Amino acid sequence: MLSTAGNAQTAAVTVTAKRGDGIIVLLRRNGLDPGKYYKEFIRLNKKNISRKNGLYIGRKYVLPENQDKKATEVKAEPDSLENVKPEIEIPADSDTTEKEAPEPPKKVPPTPKVINEPLFGTKLAKVTVESDELKGAIYYLISGHGGPDPGALIKQGRKLVSEDEYAYDVNLRLARKLMAKGAKVYIIIQDPNDGIRDKRILEVDYDEVNYPKKKIPRSQRLRLKQRTESVNALFLRNSGGKVYQRLIVTHVDSRSVGEVIDVFFYHHERSKNGKRLAESIQETFKKKYARYQPNRKYSGTVASRSGLYVIRNTHPAMVYIELGNLKNTKDQKRILDYNNREALAKWISEGLIADFKKE
Ligand SMILES: [Zn+2]
Repeated sequence: MLSTAGNAQTAAVTVTAKRGDGIIVLLRRNGLDPGKYYKEFIRLNKKNISRKNGLYIGRKYVLPENQDKKATEVKAEPDSLENVKPEIEIPADSDTTEKEAPEPPKKVPPTPKVINEPLFGTKLAKVTVESDELKGAIYYLISGHGGPDPGALIKQGRKLVSEDEYAYDVNLRLARKLMAKGAKVYIIIQDPNDGIRDKRILEVDYDEVNYPKKKIPRSQRLRLKQRTESVNALFLRNSGGKVYQRLIVTHVDSRSVGEVIDVFFYHHERSKNGKRLAESIQETFKKKYARYQPNRKYSGTVASRSGLYVIRNTHPAMVYIELGNLKNTKDQKRILDYNNREALAKWISEGLIADFKKE
């Protein structure tokens, strides 16, 4: 039997380079593994390749013969690309007067979204959305008290320390973590000039506002009504279809001096989702304690407590978190150390992620 021509000729397939084509792009589009056929392509098309291995728009290129019958399915094996330097994809700024194909799109992931939230403070205002784990989730965060009401108060040396600043700091840290995972977060109680503070003593101030920038009233009833109405209005606006919306309320109340309290959780007695939410976070805390403090049993509980105004009157499924007892020395130590506030926020966020995944 006569074989009249070599492989290259019998199988010669030509393609025309388009704008944006480089050798790798062209090979892949035609089902050829660039790691395997790159050199062969250059050999076959020497005359039409620029010094930096770029292609010329509109010229015809001979494709190497596909040695691998499965090659069409073997698109872009990342491993085999290791020998190929990315630079060689970039068309030359050569002396040729002919128009060359422009640089192919770089193989870097799309630039992550960056959110700007000035409430986090100048250094932390920019939040890079690093994943979409919480995409579609909406959170409303209320830190207890605020404005004219500082909540529980204790003395630290000569300084006065108040509950609302600590609950707020944990809340901001939590908000930032949730946003970084793709969630939409509304910070209901806000302080425009505090930010996330890596400090022990968070000085008491009275300039917190209620979303969106409303003055917080002095009366407790009006104060709670105000935040409840803010959350409910947003909840209605964001409703429609099956939208996952959750409210998280955080406090650091004071009880009797001796009482150590582990972080514990309240939910509305008739809210299944609220109960699940509380349990999801509690579950995370149990695991964390088992891992980081194996000698200390975590005794935080989940309970229903529908007598509280905010629990009773807000629409989204919610959890009310007590972060500690401000009057107890051990709890104080924990909450005054910003590393612990960061850890609390992290653990809560992980519990929230776990709950969202149950949807
Ligand atoms: Zn409180």
